[in-house]
Amino acid sequence: MDYTNERQQIVDYGKQLVDNHLTTGTGGNLSIYIPEDNKMLISPSGVPYYDTKLEDVVVMDLDGNILEGECKPSSEWEMHSMFYRHDAGVKAVVHAHSDYAAACSTYHKDIPALHYAAADATRSIKTTEYKIYGSHELAEEAFKVMGKNHGILLANHGLLANGSSMKQAMATAVNIEWLCKLYILAKSAGEPNPLNDSQLDDVAKKFENYGQSKESLDQIQKDIKAHA
Ligand SMILES: [Zn+2]
Repeated sequence: MDYTNERQQIVDYGKQLVDNHLTTGTGGNLSIYIPEDNKMLISPSGVPYYDTKLEDVVVMDLDGNILEGECKPSSEWEMHSMFYRHDAGVKAVVHAHSDYAAACSTYHKDIPALHYAAADATRSIKTTEYKIYGSHELAEEAFKVMGKNHGILLANHGLLANGSSMKQAMATAVNIEWLCKLYILAKSAGEPNPLNDSQLDDVAKKFENYGQSKESLDQIQKDIKAHA
């Protein structure tokens, strides 16, 4: 059995969908792209995440042909393959029917950036036009609306996130759900004030230096030497 590491990620992050309250039962789906082989691994259709085994993960080409696996692939496989085919930066896709994202997807409008956490992957969260689930039309519409962002809402459906890794795509999915929750909470008590583009640009710059990246550690060490 090939791609053991990637299969394990599909199984482990599928459980995270449940643990992060992004799905119950079998809703949503997730995939990983293998660029060197031009294949993707995707969660099986209708198998509960906590019951999914490594061999249940479906290996497909980007045209929808099943290369390995006994299970049917997720019905949204084309929405996943659309990003791998046309956006070289995308290596993983997560889709979920989480409560707040699904609720916000019924507004059919951008969800404004009410918190600086929106500077990272989405800014205001765009929403597609309604297209029926599992269709080529939904895949095309999702790709068009995503643009350079990494997360959107699918109208009357749920959220879609992508990233250069499964870790990043899942983090964005969790962030979208939280931002949608924040929007509904804030709207329930009045009219919230979103952050503007300039404020979000400042946050994005600050994010670049956040955390324990090599660059920021190097800078901290330079600062210490300068003040010694
Ligand atoms: Zn769905």
